[in-house]
Amino acid sequence: MTLVNCFDSIRLELITMKKKALDALNRLLSGNVEYLNAKVAQGDVSPDLRQRLCDEGQKPYAAIVACSDSRVVPEDIFMRSLGELFVIRVAGNVIGETQAASVTYAVQHLGVPLVMVLGHTHCGAISAVLEGCDDEALNPLSRPIANAIGSVKDPDEASALNAVNALKELRCISDIAAMEEQEELLLLPALYHTDSGKVEVLEEDHA
Ligand SMILES: [Zn+2]
Repeated sequence: MTLVNCFDSIRLELITMKKKALDALNRLLSGNVEYLNAKVAQGDVSPDLRQRLCDEGQKPYAAIVACSDSRVVPEDIFMRSLGELFVIRVAGNVIGETQAASVTYAVQHLGVPLVMVLGHTHCGAISAVLEGCDDEALNPLSRPIANAIGSVKDPDEASALNAVNALKELRCISDIAAMEEQEELLLLPALYHTDSGKVEVLEEDHA
């Protein structure tokens, strides 16, 4: 292989990776459009698919960090099937050690090209912080949220800031940051509107 061909193949690989991430995002957002007026979830949970995923292994194309809120179910919100999404849920979609390790696993071992942090409106964890909740048992959740939102008082703005901050936490993982730098990985913050069902991809200068 000549040097030129070598560079061409590297460039092609980067373009392919970026295309994979954009295809993944497109599948999520088009699924969300379907969800807006759907009455039932439409993901495939059939025995045939279950068996195939066991035989062949999982190959999800997106990792999603979302809140544990019972109204925020990524597989339904994006109308996806078994085996498509690698979902990490924790109250307030905060990034602690285990969430960071889970994302790293999805990216490095499962080859996921897209990581989305999905905050949401009407979030109880955000409201608790805004209302000055001082329950020490909740500190591992409330401390990072409080740091993320600072003096912001608007709940929706606070949810958006918290999602953007969680993404920044993921960038503190050097392997993740390097893959994003090489355009091998797309990291996106988003906000789920709990009332309308719409997912809004956020601008990062929200912070
Ligand atoms: Zn929440």
